[in-house]
Amino acid sequence: MRFVTACRQYLPQLVLLVLLANLADVDFLIGLGTEANANALHHGFTHSLAAAVFVALAVSCVWRITGSFWRSAILCFSAYSSHLLIDLCTGTKLGWNATASAIPLLWPSAKEFSSPLVLVVGVSHKDLPALFSMKNAWSSFYELLTFGAITVALLALRLRHAQRRTMSHNRETASRTVCTSNSIR
Ligand SMILES: [Zn+2]
Repeated sequence: MRFVTACRQYLPQLVLLVLLANLADVDFLIGLGTEANANALHHGFTHSLAAAVFVALAVSCVWRITGSFWRSAILCFSAYSSHLLIDLCTGTKLGWNATASAIPLLWPSAKEFSSPLVLVVGVSHKDLPALFSMKNAWSSFYELLTFGAITVALLALRLRHAQRRTMSHNRETASRTVCTSNSIR
């Protein structure tokens, strides 16, 4: 119940973080608009740490999603750069191979980085039939399952931690009450 209430309370912040986590792929639209080719500018500046820092600071100037500017900026940066981390580990074949996407992580340096370990099979986006293919449906299902499991595990750990804190707080309060009643007697 507490989780559902928190989700409702922080829904606008959650929506913003989801948008930021996907913002790097706006280069598809820029390529489509400027070069009439969605892939023309893909994996460029928007897939860099500089873009993550810039977006995090700019968003936090406009809207602090938590109490302080810096906490908000760190959250926005984490959301944006989670995309970069996943892209680094995305390739055409799972496992230890050289198929991961290369991205200019340290832009303006032209050097491109990729992980030798591929954890996610990338979706094909060369044309519309490829975009809506069964292969892409399976890739999306795999991502949903993997990241869903990670999210559930993190939530379970968080819940356990909160329960332990509540229990130790209750124990402390009970022992303090006993001490106070003994000293009154
Ligand atoms: Zn991307």
